[in-house]
Amino acid sequence: MPHPLGSPFVRDQLSLRTVPANERGVCGQRPFVLYWMQGTQRLEDNWALRLATVEADRVNKPLLVLHTIDSGSQYASARFHTFMLQGAQELASRAERLGITYRLMICRGGQHCTTSIERLAADTALIVTDLFPTEGVAQRTARVASRVDCRVLAVDSVGLVPAACFDREEYSARTIRPKLHRLLATAAEAVEDRAPKRPFPASLADGLATSTVDPRRFEIAALVQPCNVDHAVPPVATRGGLTAARQRLDTFVSNGLTDYCRRRSVPSDAGGTSRLSGHLHYGMISPLEVYNAARAAADAREGEAFVEEMLTWRELSLNFCLRNPGYASLASSPAWAQRSMAAHAGDTRPVTHGLDTLERAQSADPIWNAGQRELVETGAMHPIVRMLWGKALVEWAPTYEAAFTWMIHLNDRYSLDGRDPASYAGVHWCFGKFDRPFTTRAVWGTIRPMSLTRARLKYDLGDYVARWQPTPAAQVA
Ligand SMILES: Cc1cc2nc3c(=O)[nH]c(=O)nc-3n(C[C@H](O)[C@H](O)[C@H](O)COP(=O)(O)OP(=O)(O)OC[C@H]3O[C@@H](n4cnc5c(N)ncnc54)[C@H](O)[C@@H]3O)c2cc1C
Repeated sequence: MPHPLGSPFVRDQLSLRTVPANERGVCGQRPFVLYWMQGTQRLEDNWALRLATVEADRVNKPLLVLHTIDSGSQYASARFHTFMLQGAQELASRAERLGITYRLMICRGGQHCTTSIERLAADTALIVTDLFPTEGVAQRTARVASRVDCRVLAVDSVGLVPAACFDREEYSARTIRPKLHRLLATAAEAVEDRAPKRPFPASLADGLATSTVDPRRFEIAALVQPCNVDHAVPPVATRGGLTAARQRLDTFVSNGLTDYCRRRSVPSDAGGTSRLSGHLHYGMISPLEVYNAARAAADAREGEAFVEEMLTWRELSLNFCLRNPGYASLASSPAWAQRSMAAHAGDTRPVTHGLDTLERAQSADPIWNAGQRELVETGAMHPIVRMLWGKALVEWAPTYEAAFTWMIHLNDRYSLDGRDPASYAGVHWCFGKFDRPFTTRAVWGTIRPMSLTRARLKYDLGDYVARWQPTPAAQVA
């Protein structure tokens, strides 16, 4: 039996997952409670929506769900806006069916997003929003929280386990893994969601009509076209939203997961991994749903291997970005890696490429170029190729700092799962984070080396490279 909303289990989870963003009180005389949806773009297994529902009922007020899409966030593009709007169209229909008042605001950029929430706050008893360390969510939340006079709470729905269970930065997968598994037994219990008890009055909803859109009433391209975002990064075939995510999940658990350990290492096998990281990044599907589907379908070994990625590595990434304020800088590499980089900064780099050459997939290596083309054309890259792609930049950029910045840029500009805690963790991993020192080599120092030449012997890459030969669509503007 799932836990009902308001049960002691839900209250415990909510208190673990909730972080006050300011010290203000609930303004009980104001007409409604606001759930400001930013990073968790779903209605199911959404702890922020749960808290907002419980609180709205407690103070006997209606609840408004306001979803903002910010054209001013870094790397905002036609690709990411389209993906989010596909999800928003579904959210609008699902919310209506569930009796939840959902509105969408496409913000122009600058401070349009935060000033709109601030204006709305004059009528708001309490603001609940999503906790997310990257994508500008934390900055937007902090700005609103410091400027409104009602209480603002940020709620973590990112992981299976509440991130607050780890109050400091974990060193590696080895240190976080046993703790996650201990906590998982209780954290992964199902909860029955319900709509808030008081319906949102039509008179209040009408007042929002000029600043919000019903995404179902427009072609997505028509909504994206006027946005001041990077239109040189066009939409991709991968569709956003819960239905598309569930289709991928179904296909994966009934096919790829049955041989995950082997197939994950075959770059030409597009169905060997879940390809859910974009949907997980935008919170379109809950990690609990993915976890439960995988556990129910897989045998122990394949299931464990998938949970290692889905749980250990994903939640280690979140822990890193939440607990290490320097996550976006190379200075947060482990001390041994920093010593190594300092000692080898002057090593001669036999091959170097400029960012522009790389962005156009015109390096000297066909495997690397194939990965870059896959990224540019589809918004994703196979996980094995992604490791090789990242490691190659460590060797090819003129400095470690340039390699770090370029990797973030290429990853976050094109990848549907970019700007995620796992983006920073993955990029940092290329520079020794979560890893151990190796035998010293030129340029690499003691950081784990990876060579594209050796990869040809280890992985079957021929079909992958053939698949991602240049096409006119691969030309980067
Ligand atoms: C240089 C580099 C950059 C990366 N950038 C990103 C990024 O921007 N966003 C991102 O989500 N992942 C990133 N990763 C991690 C990993 O490559 C992707 O999560 C994976 O490719 C997603 O494919 P999938 O959904 O098919 O994975 P699956 O194998 O099906 O795994 C299921 C889920 O587990 C999570 N996961 C898997 N591997 C990792 C990992 N190593 N670290 C953290 N979580 C993981 C993802 O949410 C993924 O969807 C990066 C790795 C490297 C080496």
